[in-house]
Amino acid sequence: MESNYLLICNSTNQMLQANKLINQRNISTDLIPVPAEYGNICNTGIRFSSEKLYLVKELLNEQEMLVHGIFPLKPRRYEGIIQALRDNAENKFSKIINKIHIGEVPTLSELVYMLDTEQVEERLFSLANKLREEIIGEEVEIRGAIEFSNICKKNCNYCGLRRSNNKLLRYRMSVEEILIAAQELSEMGIKTVILQSGEDSWYDTSTIVEIITKIRQQTGLKITLSLGERTKEEYEIFREAGASNYLLKIETSDEEIFAQAHPDDDFNTRVKHLKWLKELGYLVGSGNIIGLPGQTSETIAKDLIFFRNMGIHMIGIGPLIPTANTPYSELPQGDINLSLRTIALTRLFLRNVFIPATTALATLHPAAQEWGLEVGANKLMIIATPAKYRAAYCIYDDKRFVDLDNALTAIRNTKRKIPQTITDQMLYHKHG
Ligand code: SAH
Ligand code: SF4
Repeated sequence: MESNYLLICNSTNQMLQANKLINQRNISTDLIPVPAEYGNICNTGIRFSSEKLYLVKELLNEQEMLVHGIFPLKPRRYEGIIQALRDNAENKFSKIINKIHIGEVPTLSELVYMLDTEQVEERLFSLANKLREEIIGEEVEIRGAIEFSNICKKNCNYCGLRRSNNKLLRYRMSVEEILIAAQELSEMGIKTVILQSGEDSWYDTSTIVEIITKIRQQTGLKITLSLGERTKEEYEIFREAGASNYLLKIETSDEEIFAQAHPDDDFNTRVKHLKWLKELGYLVGSGNIIGLPGQTSETIAKDLIFFRNMGIHMIGIGPLIPTANTPYSELPQGDINLSLRTIALTRLFLRNVFIPATTALATLHPAAQEWGLEVGANKLMIIATPAKYRAAYCIYDDKRFVDLDNALTAIRNTKRKIPQTITDQMLYHKHG
């Protein structure tokens, strides 16, 4: 069996820098979630082959880079899979799991079987949950979103922020307001902020750089950008300014369905942007919407193959929420159970990825975010947008306002672990 090492750095930005340097020496790496037993210094580690250990150490010395450590990566037994294979010997379900287990890609019809067959749903869910536990552990990462502008030049057919929606009161937050919201997140013990907006070029390159730089300086928060499509140069400048993650959903990997939902976007351009982001050394988030017109289990299965081929690190899966004043207002809402099966299959098939239990799930059913956490998801997002703007960030109707208390309740209800930095802050506020 191939043996690997795991390099763990002291921060996400250091990890991305080290990874870039290692790749420049033609050493291939995978960025994977750090299993719980290696501590929680940085949640993403660099996996490389043990044959390259000497070269990696030499490079780090040469660069005088002080990292947290390099550890032999224990081969995983994946007890959950072994147990499932034992319990379900010789049936179709176990044949597919075994294929995934030994690194083979299941056929499209096998992935569709997993997505569609209600009789195997419970087994799929419990296996995905077990895998999440073995790969990542019990801690649920909490990120905070600042939705800083609802002005958008695009007209995506599902989204309430689309430019033709003239029923919406539009807003832009100032740099100062964004910094205050970021500071509040930091004081809660949260470590990552997502800066999200409509496609709003009022925030030009230098304004976004100013926001990134000031947040990094004043709070040290890790920054995920979700600004829609920008130029390659801008992605590069934002990365250099200190943004480490970029979230750009493909929504569907089917070119026709994509074209139908996105009057202003081109599928191949979107794919090109995702490739640029990877190339520029971002940790890349993407994902899909479950319930777009024309979508089938087969196209969803293809989405998962797409995420795998693209090496996407974070995959957000959310049901479609039909929204007033959009062309999709009368469509049926996305199926919650199909969304959960997609999350579970993603954990099983892609394994070493981060998966949020999305706000869209929480919006369709108050318990659905918890269900997401129980079938393979390991992240939650809370909304840190100031109260006066929140209702106007209406990408979809009745968007559930998930705050820290809701997130903590979801974590407790699912018997998972609250990040230590948040527990420390809560104790500090209680006693300090
Ligand atoms: N403008 C940026 C970020 C804001 S939209 C962008 O488009 O990337 C963020 C995400 O909200 C979208 O990627 C989409 O997946 C989701 N979204 C928007 N409207 C939705 C709806 N009606 N139902 C479900 N998800 C929706
Ligand atoms: Fe704009 Fe993003 Fe909504 Fe599309 S999904 S209309 S780009 S905010």
